Amino acid sequence: MEAGLWKTSGHYDYYKENMYTFKIEDREFVLKPMNCPGHILIYKSKIRSYRELPLRFFELGTVYRHEKAGVLHGLLRVRGFTQDDAHIFCLPEQLKSEIKSVIDFVFDTMRAFGFDDVGIELSTRPAKYIGSDEDWQMATIALEESLKEKNLTYEINEGEGAFYGPKIDIKLKDALKRSWQCATIQCDFALPKRFNLSYIDEQGKEQQPIMLHRVLLGSLERFIGALVEHYNGEFPLWLAPAQVRIIAIKDELNAYAQQLKNTLEDNSLRVELDMRNETLNKKIRDAEVDKIPYCLVVGEREADSHTVSVRRKGKGNLGTMPFEEFIKKIKEEVGQKVKVP
Ligand SMILES: [Zn+2]
Repeated sequence: MEAGLWKTSGHYDYYKENMYTFKIEDREFVLKPMNCPGHILIYKSKIRSYRELPLRFFELGTVYRHEKAGVLHGLLRVRGFTQDDAHIFCLPEQLKSEIKSVIDFVFDTMRAFGFDDVGIELSTRPAKYIGSDEDWQMATIALEESLKEKNLTYEINEGEGAFYGPKIDIKLKDALKRSWQCATIQCDFALPKRFNLSYIDEQGKEQQPIMLHRVLLGSLERFIGALVEHYNGEFPLWLAPAQVRIIAIKDELNAYAQQLKNTLEDNSLRVELDMRNETLNKKIRDAEVDKIPYCLVVGEREADSHTVSVRRKGKGNLGTMPFEEFIKKIKEEVGQKVKVP
């Protein structure tokens, strides 16, 4: 994006030092390091009234960081990544209810992905900071009271907040008890000031809104890395990249297997066909090794009676059932986001 916006944000010098600025046809650009200024521009695109607040903007935003080559690591530390990023512009009296609803959203999301063990940290004012003491106090109290009212236990990181505001960090623990930074809820009064954001209050006066930055998963790439580790590659059905693999026991049945695949895909399921020239036993073993949740074996008898022979990863052979019944069963399981078989 064009460099001008970053000069306003106060982050420009850092990115110039790290050589993330470049010129095209005499105009200066930077690789976008964060999504906030874009949402600020949308906020500023017209005059805002207090009646419009809270305003919540969300995007899956791609951002770039100049990580040194030596620290790059799989999906966990990358130079380009995608954040599930939102910015909430609100009135001071809305701050707490907004924070509380973000906390609920975080916990709903973590539970859906099967993370029950999370740690919460509240980071307070650092030695070097901008903004007034009253702003800091109001924001810190709002964050802390939100946690208390939700009956959540947390640790305080004294002086570990960003220079522009306090924050809540939520870290999840995977199956091996390793800690992963995911959600952050950050209070910010500096950017609204720098970018001169305002709304018109009940008396017709201009006031400055408060801005909340929040991510739930953080970097999608790193979150997927954490999920792979947490499940050791054996994803719950609703997350598995391939949910069903169909094996026809002879070539003549491939067309029928293809029909079953189409029907399952019409039901929004992710399906593979194994049409390799291998033995049935080898194909069933490979489906196990590939951690495919469901494996359907189709022989002549199944084709004639429109049934399927069902194998479930971790449970073995579930026997033969009508194809329609299988569709109903698997869709129910997907819908309930069942964790593991
Ligand atoms: Zn932000």
